[in-house]
Amino acid sequence: MKILVVEDEKKIASFIRMGLEAEGFVVDVSRHGDEGYTLATTRPYDALVLDIMLPGRDGLSILKNLRLKGNPVPVILLSARSEPHERVEGLNLGADDYLVKPFYIEELVARLHVVTRRGGGTGASTLEVGDLTVDLLTREVTRGGQVIVLTAREFQLLEHLARNPGRVLTRAQICERVWDYDFDPGTNLVDVYIQRLRRKIDVADAPSVIETIRGVGYRMRKGS
Ligand code: CA
Repeated sequence: MKILVVEDEKKIASFIRMGLEAEGFVVDVSRHGDEGYTLATTRPYDALVLDIMLPGRDGLSILKNLRLKGNPVPVILLSARSEPHERVEGLNLGADDYLVKPFYIEELVARLHVVTRRGGGTGASTLEVGDLTVDLLTREVTRGGQVIVLTAREFQLLEHLARNPGRVLTRAQICERVWDYDFDPGTNLVDVYIQRLRRKIDVADAPSVIETIRGVGYRMRKGS
């Protein structure tokens, strides 16, 4: 999952980045409200973590403008203890949750899991594609009831594919979402990981769950 953090306090920003990266999130950090707003409107994120007081555009203004544009991205606000009115206003403007500083990184991780599930529309914490299930909370993957052990990166790749069943994803899109590269690095990184994933999740005598779309990328078979 890719998260944008807009926080001007350097220490807090790096504490959040390290904490979220350790949990397998891909993190972009911006320390200025105007830049944060530009990123939020031009790049795809699974959730935003917005500080309220920022140089340039403040967190509430970013939130308000995103919602006015019909952007439904889940938003968690960070606020100082002295800002109760801003928190209420934030919730009224369409924030999904807030945290009062200081907070434990585990709190932010837990809330990100909740709001991104909600954002998924189904309210489910598991993705199911055919007899393959991906539990987003426990990070357990099973196929036909059989537990499959994946590395963190393999899990992220599978999660991204399973969130988009039937949709063709280009190598560049997969790189951007799973590895946070803005471009295809020209290696066969994606192909290597797809092969690794296939070896773990595919079963004998059945077509692969992940289809190769020649010259383009990959697609998770719907209901495979
Ligand atoms: Ca601030």
